[in-house]
Amino acid sequence: MLLLETPKTPTVGVATPTAPAATDSGPQVAPDKGHYEPTAVALMAIVHVLGIAGLFLFPATWPLVALCICSYYLRMFGITAGYHRYFAHRAFHTSRWFQFVLAFLGSTATQRGALWWAAHHRDHHRHSDDERDLHSPLRRGFWWSHIGWIVHSSSTETRWGNIKDFTKYPELVWLDNNRLFAPIVYAVALFLAGGAPALFWGYFLSTTLLWHGTFVINSLCHVWGSRRFETTDTSRNNLWLALLTLGEGWHNNHHHYQSSVRQGWLWWEVDGAFYALKGLEKLGIVWKLKDVPERVLAPCSAVTRPDTPAAATGVAAAVVVHSGC
Ligand SMILES: [Zn+2]
Ligand SMILES: [Zn+2]
Repeated sequence: MLLLETPKTPTVGVATPTAPAATDSGPQVAPDKGHYEPTAVALMAIVHVLGIAGLFLFPATWPLVALCICSYYLRMFGITAGYHRYFAHRAFHTSRWFQFVLAFLGSTATQRGALWWAAHHRDHHRHSDDERDLHSPLRRGFWWSHIGWIVHSSSTETRWGNIKDFTKYPELVWLDNNRLFAPIVYAVALFLAGGAPALFWGYFLSTTLLWHGTFVINSLCHVWGSRRFETTDTSRNNLWLALLTLGEGWHNNHHHYQSSVRQGWLWWEVDGAFYALKGLEKLGIVWKLKDVPERVLAPCSAVTRPDTPAAATGVAAAVVVHSGC
């Protein structure tokens, strides 16, 4: 996120090399005890305004629209495959250099650093929709879960205790402590390559769309869609959100079984990040992709298409609950 405050630095070198932190690091700061961060709110507003202004200052052309979309999905991959499936869930293995590429790419999305993001997300799974889930729509409503929690003081700090398995990498800790480095490098590169139109369409407008494309998983994907599994939270599966997020819309699948690298489990459950990771696996850049175990997947094998279009997308059926596939 667009925040200028300097987070507290952890002790680099304290590491648990293979497994995510398993202990509960305690409740979050209660939202009603904190306050909205003026700098975060202001900077988020500025990016929104500049993104919309770009539409009028530099009328749409096909190259600008393509740039905006490519910039969106490239950085969505950084969030989806990098921040979420790699850093938060360790759903595949990779080298140290590509790990940094994922962290840098995700950071250009201007949603704080990989370690901040993953540490908070691990808490989301531990406390889904209970009073300690910082962005549950059940706690303080839809807009809080969508955008409010991110610009609130209760979410500012990286919860280092949740992400000890990555704090041994100083380059990742540095990126986390210098949250605007990657976004500035990215924006300057766009400006140098294509001038102001590229900056406005490729960064400001694309980042605005990317924020909301990401945030809908915390907000809409807990209220809109179908439920294949009776998880203890309100997660949903939603095709439209999966298309927007390279596969994150299969959120009920993911809450049911979190460590799989793929979140779309049936052939029609489109999962762009998984397809890209399979390509990277063929190139030897990532490996040991964790799949869904047969015992979890087996009940799904009889289902070849959604029961109804509404059940797949959640358009008409707000909640469709099955005890399994
Ligand atoms: Zn969730
Ligand atoms: Zn997750």
